[in-house]
Amino acid sequence: MTALVDVEALDRWIREFAGQVAAHKELLTQLDAAIGDADHGANMDRGMTAVVAALDGSRPANAGLLLKQVGMTLVSTVGGASGPLYGTFFLRMATASGEVTALDGQAFAKALRAGLEGVVSRGKAEAGDKTMYDALAPAVEALEGTLSAAAPLTEAPTEAPTEAPTEALTEALRSATRAAEDGRDATIAMLARKGRASYLGERSVGHQDPGATSAALLVAAAATALAQS
Ligand code: ADP
Ligand code: MG
Repeated sequence: MTALVDVEALDRWIREFAGQVAAHKELLTQLDAAIGDADHGANMDRGMTAVVAALDGSRPANAGLLLKQVGMTLVSTVGGASGPLYGTFFLRMATASGEVTALDGQAFAKALRAGLEGVVSRGKAEAGDKTMYDALAPAVEALEGTLSAAAPLTEAPTEAPTEAPTEALTEALRSATRAAEDGRDATIAMLARKGRASYLGERSVGHQDPGATSAALLVAAAATALAQS
């Protein structure tokens, strides 16, 4: 299988996400000010700054160890709901990836799916609850869908693939990004049923969810960073 997402690519993804979080820190804080406690930008920036510092200190040798380091750092540096949720996301990704030096597109999608399931087992969010799940879940679905459409398992082995694997992953990550952004935008109309925003009831309607916004940045960062590999 073609290795598309190696340790270096994962490192690029995480650093790109950290850069996007820093660039959107004020936006994330403003969104959280409207329906929460105005700390999502600070929380995520503190966590991702610590994650990058840890990567600078020692680049883990394989995918599982890198993702585990990211998850552990987020759990230990980010307070609030998002620390344990993003931490669990990366820890479950780590377990699903295993101690391998590279993942192909399918393995990367599988790891993201495991991360999403971790978010659900931790926070019990369902579709429409106005959380990060509403951006992440459609993104994982789009990624899986685009990848399997690009490489149908039933295709005759003699038939040449229509696309190179790298192009397939790039396209899949682009469609995942669009799905995450659509999911993020759809949170505006939702009534929050999880987290602090749920305390507002009807008054949460009309505001974009901060966690769905950072989750869309995470997916977009993957499209930016992994397209190069
Ligand atoms: P806190 O709410 O503790 O201040 P943050 O502001 O950092 O933490 O993060 C808030 C975000 O966390 C919300 O916008 C939402 O997307 C996400 N969130 C909160 N609770 C849950 C949950 N149970 N499941 C999934 N995501 C959640
Ligand atoms: Mg908050």
